[in-house]
Amino acid sequence: MISPIATRPSLESERFHVVIIGGGINGVAIARECARAGKRTLLIEQHDFAAGTTSRSTRIIHGGLRYLEHGEIGMVRESLRERQRLLRERPHLVHPVHFLLALNQGSRRSALSIRIGLWLYRQLGGRRLGADLNKMDQHKLERLLDAGRRWSVFSFEDAQCEFPERLVAEWLVEAIEAGATARNHTQVLAVDVRHGRASAILMRDRLSGKEERVEANWVVNATGPWADRVCQRSRIDTRGSMVGGVRGSHIVLPRFAGAPDAAVYTEAVDTRPIFVIPWNEQVLVGTTEVPDSGDPSKAHPSPDEIEYLLRSLLQLFPRAKLSSRDIRYTFSGIRPLPFSPKAKPAAVTRKHYLHDHSDDGAAQMISVIGGKLTTAAQLARECADKIGARSDRRRELAVISGDNLDPALDQWVLDIANAGGISEDSARGIVEWHGKRSLTVARMAISSAELRAPLCQHTEHIVAEAVDAFSNECAVTMADVLLRRVPVAFGGCWSEICSRDAAARIGAVMGWNEHQAATELEAFETERAAFLRKPSALNAVLEAAAD
Ligand SMILES: Cc1cc2nc3c(=O)[nH]c(=O)nc-3n(C[C@H](O)[C@H](O)[C@H](O)COP(=O)(O)OP(=O)(O)OC[C@H]3O[C@@H](n4cnc5c(N)ncnc54)[C@H](O)[C@@H]3O)c2cc1C
Repeated sequence: MISPIATRPSLESERFHVVIIGGGINGVAIARECARAGKRTLLIEQHDFAAGTTSRSTRIIHGGLRYLEHGEIGMVRESLRERQRLLRERPHLVHPVHFLLALNQGSRRSALSIRIGLWLYRQLGGRRLGADLNKMDQHKLERLLDAGRRWSVFSFEDAQCEFPERLVAEWLVEAIEAGATARNHTQVLAVDVRHGRASAILMRDRLSGKEERVEANWVVNATGPWADRVCQRSRIDTRGSMVGGVRGSHIVLPRFAGAPDAAVYTEAVDTRPIFVIPWNEQVLVGTTEVPDSGDPSKAHPSPDEIEYLLRSLLQLFPRAKLSSRDIRYTFSGIRPLPFSPKAKPAAVTRKHYLHDHSDDGAAQMISVIGGKLTTAAQLARECADKIGARSDRRRELAVISGDNLDPALDQWVLDIANAGGISEDSARGIVEWHGKRSLTVARMAISSAELRAPLCQHTEHIVAEAVDAFSNECAVTMADVLLRRVPVAFGGCWSEICSRDAAARIGAVMGWNEHQAATELEAFETERAAFLRKPSALNAVLEAAAD
């Protein structure tokens, strides 16, 4: 199999109608929108698609109940409309989740204000989502909570996209099918501004080192927390920062005895809202809000944040006997919030805006500021409208209708298992991650036992999915595959042995020689360790908490 890098044609001196810098969820959504409008579109990502903030989020598709406290009713309504749209269009990736809101007697929020807030949230959300609202969960949680304090438990519905990386991969494929050109591992060094207008970009392929210049009618800076850096490097004077970075960290633990099946929305030790969410057969706890203007690529949780999250979890589940040794890994991302130095991070709006650089001497250039996973498609439509790229926006058809999901999914799983000669478990995993492209993966799998082999001994996901990622989803490195296209490396039992197995199995099919396989493996392990960190310094207080 030919290396994906070797097949990239030169783009030197080519002209695009729109060049989008940054392949997070927003950049990919904008590229899809512009390409569908028939505009010649180029998407450039310095690392890999979804490797930035997008893969470091809490992964909830929500209106944001707490934003009601800040009076952001318009934003909540818009987010809930987008939640509905994602549930309808991507039911294999986005599903309803039953949330329990647990408040203890020390809360500054009254039960009455919560009831009013939930009532309003339901009204704004419209029809029921059909989350599995299990009364048992509520009673179980009430029993588990600290007996010494009185807790009030309320329930509501929201949604979760366990793997936004997969949503990004699907939108990316759709952008390319609509005619977009996409380059990952390519950094935009600067936007060339001539005669008061953004006219070109200079970029460097980080794998080959080759530099190229591309002409552009429009440039969209969708680099999230990196947005100011792109302007600074291009000498565009925005008269102050556009983004105020706020770090959010998570800890991931195994499912502990008594962990609820429902997602829990509660207050941390300092009464800030936090989530405890069943995720990927583990428990995801987050998040924090720490102002951070450092390099977003290097964001990681501080020991204080880890301690804070663990303490908050123990406040809720004191009988769980968890310590920092139980944490499987931690990760952080930088929220690219609008720069508001005087506001507390929690109070800064989560609404996105589009910064037009005409007044900064760079017409035909837009920077995307803020936003959420939930509203990325809406942001993309607004951005495309602004640059005159209006596509046909009729409702997309899901491969499986959300109204009839379970039986249709079961039948689709059987069809994929038959088409690929694979187990039903593998077929289910493929359907859940690859949606309408499952048949392509299954047709590849049927051709050889090596392609049907699992990526490692703990997973049902198979080598054919990795090969499809290299062939059709712009994956270039093994880390692109195992952390984003087929994100098995987030699994609870992933270890160095799994990494070695996966490298050997993928390498055998891709035709990697020994040196290539070793290089891929080493690069993957380095990236995994930097992203999904084990807490290093064990904190004595936290150790004691477990005794
Ligand atoms: C802790 C946390 C929790 C969150 N939880 C949720 C949630 O539960 N639900 C929700 O809806 N939203 C959530 N969000 C918000 C959401 O994750 C972000 O709004 C969204 O991912 C931003 O996407 P983006 O595409 O703008 O940025 P990013 O995903 O950061 O993408 C920007 C990309 O630009 C690339 N780039 C930077 N510089 C260059 C360059 N010079 N050349 C080329 N490429 C470049 C980067 O590598 C990066 O991949 C959360 C955010 C955080 C931090």
